[in-house]
Amino acid sequence: MNLLYDLDQTDPQLGLASRFPGLSRLSLYNALQYNCCEIVYRVVADDAIDIVAMDAPKRSPWSADFPFENYPRAFPRTPIHLEPVTDANLIAKCITPLAPDGGADIVRTDVLQDACMFPRVGGRQFMWQGIPEWPCPTATCPHHGQKRDPNKEVFAVIWERPIPGLHLWNDNPKSQDLGSCQIIFSRCTGCGVVHSCNRCD
Ligand SMILES: [Zn+2]
Repeated sequence: MNLLYDLDQTDPQLGLASRFPGLSRLSLYNALQYNCCEIVYRVVADDAIDIVAMDAPKRSPWSADFPFENYPRAFPRTPIHLEPVTDANLIAKCITPLAPDGGADIVRTDVLQDACMFPRVGGRQFMWQGIPEWPCPTATCPHHGQKRDPNKEVFAVIWERPIPGLHLWNDNPKSQDLGSCQIIFSRCTGCGVVHSCNRCD
């Protein structure tokens, strides 16, 4: 598993403490080197998760060279800070307000290349393929097994370059920073498990 972010839950800017109670850290993982398969996990402690569901190892075996050759064995530990999104922020600029009829968001592709540098937590998100659909695997959850329901809450979208100098998906500079690859984190509002997957344009 690749730990992408280890967020400080005590930072009031984050605003996710009510959704993940009892944690001072919130870990965002992805199974990049397992063919970037979808995973569902529960954050059980500041430094521990339980993987609740993922593709069988036969279908998505671990590969050191996926998504590209000589993939880093570990990402460098890098401090980050949170900034509130305002209209002046690039990621906000690349999404137009929802149309009154509820029509789809329109992407300002002219600023998307810059905006994809910024991961985003909370609030409205732009997702190339909409909110990911996944069945909650928790047997005791009221939403167990439901794939298409309103009980999936997207809380973070990480684009292809989570920090300067680190590209998650491609080592060819010509194909980087196109704003095409996203790692999307959503949570089941019934039981709190986290779903992590990638989506592209
Ligand atoms: Zn659930």
